[in-house]
Amino acid sequence: MTLSAATVQVCDECGNEMSARDTRTQCTKCGGLLSLRYDPPAERGLALKEVFDTRLKTRNALPESSGVWRFRELVLPDASDGEIVTQPEGNTPLVRRERVAAWCGLDSIDLKLEGANPTGSFKDRGMTVAVTQARRLVAPAVACASTGNTSASLAAYAALAGLPALVLVPNGQVSLGKLAQTIAYGARTLLVRGDFDDCLRLARAAADKLGVYLANSINPYRIAGQKTIVLEMLQQLGWRAPDWIVFPAGNLGNTAAFGAALREASDLGLIDRMPRLAAIQASGAAPFAASFRENFRQRHTVRAETVATAIRIGDPASYHRAVRAIRETNGVVIDLSDAEILDAKAVVDASGVGCEPASAASVAGARALVARGTIRREDAVVAVLTGHILKDSGILLQYHRDTDPPPALANRPLEIDADLAAVERVLATARRSDA
Ligand SMILES: *Cc1c(COP(=O)(O)O)cnc(C)c1O
Ligand SMILES: [Zn+2]
Repeated sequence: MTLSAATVQVCDECGNEMSARDTRTQCTKCGGLLSLRYDPPAERGLALKEVFDTRLKTRNALPESSGVWRFRELVLPDASDGEIVTQPEGNTPLVRRERVAAWCGLDSIDLKLEGANPTGSFKDRGMTVAVTQARRLVAPAVACASTGNTSASLAAYAALAGLPALVLVPNGQVSLGKLAQTIAYGARTLLVRGDFDDCLRLARAAADKLGVYLANSINPYRIAGQKTIVLEMLQQLGWRAPDWIVFPAGNLGNTAAFGAALREASDLGLIDRMPRLAAIQASGAAPFAASFRENFRQRHTVRAETVATAIRIGDPASYHRAVRAIRETNGVVIDLSDAEILDAKAVVDASGVGCEPASAASVAGARALVARGTIRREDAVVAVLTGHILKDSGILLQYHRDTDPPPALANRPLEIDADLAAVERVLATARRSDA
């Protein structure tokens, strides 16, 4: 096993270089976060597109049949085939849904279905890279703090790699589906009496003091993998950049990763114009939106509260690199109420696609930005649906079945006697409301 000299970790703040083998996730000089730097690919522009497109057409063998490792030159170029821990992941659909577009006030909208990943969220794209790196480093164990999806993903990839996994989640604040996955995949699961931000502090300390490998999104290997959401989307669009990429923002790992992906895609001639990023937060967890309104003069932290648990984060770790991503793409950051997010989710779900609550912030955001005149009706918009509909069935059932009065888009299940006349009555009303 060798790590070529190509990849180094570079501090985002002061430029300090650290070895690719260093397991510390912060700059040893200034405490800044790290990014990977590697030799650029030999090809550029058309030739590089052809490398990626050929792999897509002949997708048979691992690891390049993965929607992450298909772009390996821009992920972790010096990882050898045998080192890579892959399910495979990625290769998620990009679908057009007219009903969702109409609700947003758009001519069309493309939905990137990241819930189609092996553990049901985009977290798998980063985790395949982080766990690959953990195995290359012969780490004794991997750990993370999580609002649920990171823990489910880490647990699955650690199982695949044969590594022990330690997971810290806020007690009582993780959806049953995500918790169930984490336990089932075999991670040591710690229910911390505190919130996500407490869990992350604890996980960082455990990594520093106890030598376990930290797989949170401050880990630059995860960010490198998450870039492929955008790379794959661009490939699916025939390398024609959309006008907007709209997505939920919590810990800001994706905001950072999307910015990095677009920067590289532009530098390497894969696209000829920059899409604008629109990062959407829940109003109860919107420190980044608050900073954006002040032109990023100040970093904010809040005590986070929202039904969209995957973005219930009050002190986002990737703040600085997310600021850069928004600035470089002329992006926007807004926040929306839980009610707006849940209505968007109901629309997405009823289109037959479905997503978890946090994911729907993207579609809610598209609608809000059209209403404000920021996004134009005819713009090409991609909304990233970050997680699967079954991740949080509790909130889903609460919305449709248990909220009084029922929200406008609620689809109440009906309890009936076991006789045909009752079915017939229901059918008659269903026909009337269809007409
Ligand atoms: C992790 C997660 C997010 C938030 O992404 P960040 O990179 O932390 O901003 C959004 N949606 C889902 C489903 C997630 O799992
Ligand atoms: Zn530094």
